[in-house]
Amino acid sequence: MRFGLIASKLAAPVVNFINDPPRAADLDDDDHFHDECGVFGIYGHPEAANLTYLGLHALQHRGQESAGIVTSDGEQLFVHRAMGLVQDAFDQAQLEKLPGRFAIGHVRYSTTGGSALKNAQPFAVDFALGSLAICHNGNLTNAEELRAELEAGGSIFQSSSDSEVLVHLVARSRQTTVEDRISDALGRVKGAYSLLFMSEDMLVAVRDPRGVRPLCLGILPGSVRSSTPRLSGAKAEPLTSRADAYIVASEPTAFDLIGAEFVRDLEPGEMLIIDASGMRSLRLAERAAPHMCIFEYVYFARPDSHIQGRSVYEVRKALGETLAREHPIDADVVIPVPDSGVPSAIGYAAALRIPFEMGLIRSHYVGRTFIEPQQSIRHFGVRLKLNPVGTILRGKRVIILDDSIVRGTTSRKIVKMVRDAGAREVHMRISSPPTQWPCYYGIDTPTRRELIASSHTVDEIARYITADSLAYLSLDGMIGAVSGAQGADAGAGTREGRDARGYCHACFSGDYPIAFTPPVNGKRQMRLVGV
Ligand code: SF4
Repeated sequence: MRFGLIASKLAAPVVNFINDPPRAADLDDDDHFHDECGVFGIYGHPEAANLTYLGLHALQHRGQESAGIVTSDGEQLFVHRAMGLVQDAFDQAQLEKLPGRFAIGHVRYSTTGGSALKNAQPFAVDFALGSLAICHNGNLTNAEELRAELEAGGSIFQSSSDSEVLVHLVARSRQTTVEDRISDALGRVKGAYSLLFMSEDMLVAVRDPRGVRPLCLGILPGSVRSSTPRLSGAKAEPLTSRADAYIVASEPTAFDLIGAEFVRDLEPGEMLIIDASGMRSLRLAERAAPHMCIFEYVYFARPDSHIQGRSVYEVRKALGETLAREHPIDADVVIPVPDSGVPSAIGYAAALRIPFEMGLIRSHYVGRTFIEPQQSIRHFGVRLKLNPVGTILRGKRVIILDDSIVRGTTSRKIVKMVRDAGAREVHMRISSPPTQWPCYYGIDTPTRRELIASSHTVDEIARYITADSLAYLSLDGMIGAVSGAQGADAGAGTREGRDARGYCHACFSGDYPIAFTPPVNGKRQMRLVGV
């Protein structure tokens, strides 16, 4: 099996958005940060492959380019990975070729081209103790150093993926059990990761010491929840009673679809081992202050999810309410950029007692393979996804609520679309602070110079997107809304105060909680590409 290469993106030329606006045809109209992966695992169910298929479907928003499932019948692993959405990657015949009571699955987002199947996960390999499958969400920040060390020691890599570095570390470990080898390997890696490992008869789920990426535990009905162990430090805590099936997933929405019950989020630095003897919870050796990705609440997670005890929907409404307190304006109607802007627009409109309307309608049937017309149509890309409702907008002072602005190109088209539909004034409000810094922890982001807020003031961005006014939520306002704290409790304007709330907000603040290798040519974002 050959996998793809990890390569640094080439540095883009300096972008002057004000004087040299990008051409629509050059740009992806989906101007967002993208979560790169979702993971799902199940232990102890006769329909493990079918339930993993459904679980991945519920996590589809976390990655749309490829999907994969590895199952185990207790003696060997079975693998299927394919390009496309989950429903395209699998059919009933393929699922029937995936027998067994254990499974892990993965959905992946990528912007890379035709050979990206080589990068689809889970990976499955044979090694001295048997077979091992692995999939992950996140990014190992010391993967390059580890790879160089392993290669110097004779390891031969088929890819440059973080996952393969982990596979080599497990294979070379001198520990005598799979569990101890995984633990040994994890002691060498740094970064942000939610990982699933599966051998022939064991499922292991791990969340990194800072808990940057989410991962939660569920159980199918019939279980005895009181027997589910909490994180208990270095000492394993055996189950006293068995459940029908255990499930781990990036978000609890995956549980809802299959009728499973949410049990709890894995804690930062927790390693959960599920095998024939039950479930044990261990803590990784590295200790660190938690830094959960705050962007999960702003955009990545589904609004019907809850993460670390907080409803994503309610948090987004609170973001809108806080934004209304910070940046009120008189207007006739508040409209969201659907779908992610809807809850915060509801919160913003309610706080200011301005009518909320769906002034933009999203088409949910646009795939990546859509054939564009040969003759250019104005704002074609955005119009494929969004269309204005003239009767709501005509003659009105309109506030558009969106979750973020990345390059500004889509916002510019949306403002123009709303104005063309007859709006008298168009004001933009953003329910997060300006995104000024790239993410190095498993999120696909443009280079820093492509982030419009990294080099332009709010007034300049407002001019570029042609809005009558533009305002962003403050950093402390966002942290306060997400954490449920207000004022001084939300962060008090200091890094120490914000750190105490337990979130990563590096793409807004530049305060990176995990060290990474200094950028080469101004950039060090890792991305899987084909070979
Ligand atoms: Fe999330 Fe931003 Fe931190 Fe990346 S840098 S983990 S997107 S908050």
